[in-house]
Amino acid sequence: MKKILAMDVGGTKIVYSVINENGVLESEIKREYTPKTISELKELFKKIIKEYDEETQGVAIATAGAVNLDNIKVESSTPNMPEGYNQLDFTQLSKKPVFVENDANAAAWAEYKIGAAKGDNNTVTITLGTGVGGGFIINGKLLRGKSGKAGEIGSMKINSRGRICTCGRKDCWESYASGSGLKFTAYETALNDESFKSSVFKDKNPADITTYDIIQGVKDKDEYSIKVFNIWKKDIITGLINIVNIFDTESIIISGGMGEFINVEEAENEVNNEIVVSKVKIKHALSGNYSGMIGAALLAFDKLAV
Ligand SMILES: [Zn+2]
Repeated sequence: MKKILAMDVGGTKIVYSVINENGVLESEIKREYTPKTISELKELFKKIIKEYDEETQGVAIATAGAVNLDNIKVESSTPNMPEGYNQLDFTQLSKKPVFVENDANAAAWAEYKIGAAKGDNNTVTITLGTGVGGGFIINGKLLRGKSGKAGEIGSMKINSRGRICTCGRKDCWESYASGSGLKFTAYETALNDESFKSSVFKDKNPADITTYDIIQGVKDKDEYSIKVFNIWKKDIITGLINIVNIFDTESIIISGGMGEFINVEEAENEVNNEIVVSKVKIKHALSGNYSGMIGAALLAFDKLAV
C-alpha cells in the first residue's frame, strides 16, 4: 500500500507521521517545536522528510494559514509562524511530490472521507477552539474559492453588539463562538447581569474569569455561569443556522477543544427549528487531533496520484 509523510504545522509545534491510503497512521507520531526562523524551519522540514524518504511516496502538509490554488504555497499565514513562511515553496523541500492544504480544510476532508461525515456529499466541519475555523465539502469536493481562501467562517459577521475581534474587525462570529468569545461573554455578563452578584465567582475580577471557570460553574449549577454558557451557545447556533441556510449541508461536524462542550443533539434540534432548508445532522468529529494530517494525506493521494 502507498504511504505518505504527513505533517501538521502550527505556530507552536509540528506533528508528523506516515499515513497510508486508507488514512491509517503507520508510524509513531512525532512532535517538534516550530522553529522561530524560516531557515531553521526549512532545515527541520528537510530533516524530517529525509528520515522517511525511503518508505514514502510524497509529503502532505496541513498548515495554519491560507494555501494557494496549486497547493504548494501559503498565501497568508498567521502571525505566529516564522517570517518568510509565505515565501516558502514547499515543492523545493523534496524531490517527491509535496502537497499543502489549510488545516481546517484538511480536517473537513478527513471527516468526509473516514470520519463523522462519511457519505455526506455536502458537509461542513467547524473547529471551535481559541478561534473558529471551518472547511466545506460541496458536492463531494473541497470548497476552495477563487484564491484558495474559502471557508473562513470565523470571520462571518453576526450580531451588532460591537465586539472587537482579534483581527481588528467588529462582530466576527469567532469573537463570540470561540473559547476567547466565551471568556469575553463571561466578562460582559459579569458587568451587566445581576446573577453575577450571587455567583460563585462574585469575588473575582470579571476580566479574570476563564472558560474553564464557566464550564465548571455550569457543572455546579451556578446561575451566572449557565447564563454565560447559554449566550455563548446561542451565538454558536446563530452561525450554524446561517451556514446551513446558505449551503444546505447534510451534516455539520463539530470539532476542536471547545467543541466537546456542545451537546450536539440539542444543537441539532435548535438549528432544525429555525432553518428554511431540509433538516441537518449535527455530530462531533471522529478523526480527532490528527484530522489535519490525515485529511492532507488523503487529499494528496487523490491529487498527486502517487
Ligand atoms: Zn475577526
